[in-house]
Amino acid sequence: MEQETKCIDAGYTPKNGEPRMIPIIQSTTFKYDTSEDMGKLFDLEADGYFYTRLQNPTNDMVAKKIAALEGGTAAMLVSSGQAANFFAVFNIATAGDHVIASTSIYGGTFNLFNVTMRKMGVDFTFVDPDCSDEELEAAFKPNTKAVFGETIANPSLTVFDIERFAKAAHAHGVPLIVDNTFATPINCRPFEWGCDIVTHSTTKYMDGHDATVGGAIVDSGKFDWMAHKDKFPGLTTPDDSYHGITYAEKFGKEGAYITKATAQLMRDFGSTPSPMNSYLLNLGLESLAVRVQRHCENARKVAEFLENNEHVSWVNYPGLKSSKYYGRAKKYMPNGTCGVISFGVKGGREAASRFMSSLKLAIIATHVADAHTCVLHPATSTHRQLTDDELTACGVLPDMIRLSVGIENVNDIIADLDNALNA
Ligand SMILES: *Cc1c(COP(=O)(O)O)cnc(C)c1O
Repeated sequence: MEQETKCIDAGYTPKNGEPRMIPIIQSTTFKYDTSEDMGKLFDLEADGYFYTRLQNPTNDMVAKKIAALEGGTAAMLVSSGQAANFFAVFNIATAGDHVIASTSIYGGTFNLFNVTMRKMGVDFTFVDPDCSDEELEAAFKPNTKAVFGETIANPSLTVFDIERFAKAAHAHGVPLIVDNTFATPINCRPFEWGCDIVTHSTTKYMDGHDATVGGAIVDSGKFDWMAHKDKFPGLTTPDDSYHGITYAEKFGKEGAYITKATAQLMRDFGSTPSPMNSYLLNLGLESLAVRVQRHCENARKVAEFLENNEHVSWVNYPGLKSSKYYGRAKKYMPNGTCGVISFGVKGGREAASRFMSSLKLAIIATHVADAHTCVLHPATSTHRQLTDDELTACGVLPDMIRLSVGIENVNDIIADLDNALNA
């Protein structure tokens, strides 16, 4: 099946007389005839459901659809993008381990790694995604367990060189994890470039309607844990908290990683999505391919409009020929990048603020990547405590506007921007 068809049909095939839609199985628990039947599930000897904190049929069907879209062998849904990135890393890197991450990542992920996971004893080295080979090589340590980056970074919009980072990770016997939230599997499939594990904040384009926060983790099934037995004891030696199961032996390359994340991390941290939320996510997934196409079409036209506007000082969009990342974007995302653009308004912080309050269609919101066009001016909102000098030092210019282009008619979006820029 092509991607458009998978958006509709993957993950669930109704049998005779069954519901057409992925059904909402809103039940905490599941009934069995004998305790032996249930025992087999607890021992991971049989497939099935016993408690929704660990697994739920609705969540699993939607996860299967996302796995099919990414071309992976196994996937799980979690309750947010934050939980997805935490589980994805913590599943293979724990106290005493080290991870290399790109500096160009979502601020929430940066805090998770640099503050909270450090408190848990995981060490991180952050590297510029455009660093030299020598710098990248120097970042690896004997206890490095993974490399992490974002296909298109939120909000800097840098494009990650997946193939290059995958090669470096594999040369050191560790997997590459890529957060593919902004590109979505419609525009980029990181597994085709050597990435081993993909994460998503499904809150963004996958849901796409401002309806539900969620996350997903997908395994390519390609990383050979047993070939690097000493590095990944959690997968390659018996789990005493699960009757001595060795995940990589029992579930193979295709299933070990997600089974371990479910059996240990979901069991212990409980970041389970509600089946109702997964149902809403599935509605978003059904139209993902057509929406992403429209987001990209609109964003390209808006970026070109901004680039030619006298009140705009700079435009950053990887789909523009003038972008430093245009060539890399063409390689990894030949059909389009995303709907998010950042740009500067001439006149700095004050002019940017006046621009914001003159918008009528675009809404001011701390959100990106959904059907509604929305804008954020970091200098007067998320970063308002900082001076102009401090803002510049952390790469958020005082005049910077983050614009998430929606799927309204592009002429209305441009007219709104034009009006506000003139104001
Ligand atoms: C929003 C976002 C996250 C965090 O996701 P939540 O669903 O808000 O927890 C992680 N990565 C990227 C790239 C994001 O845009």
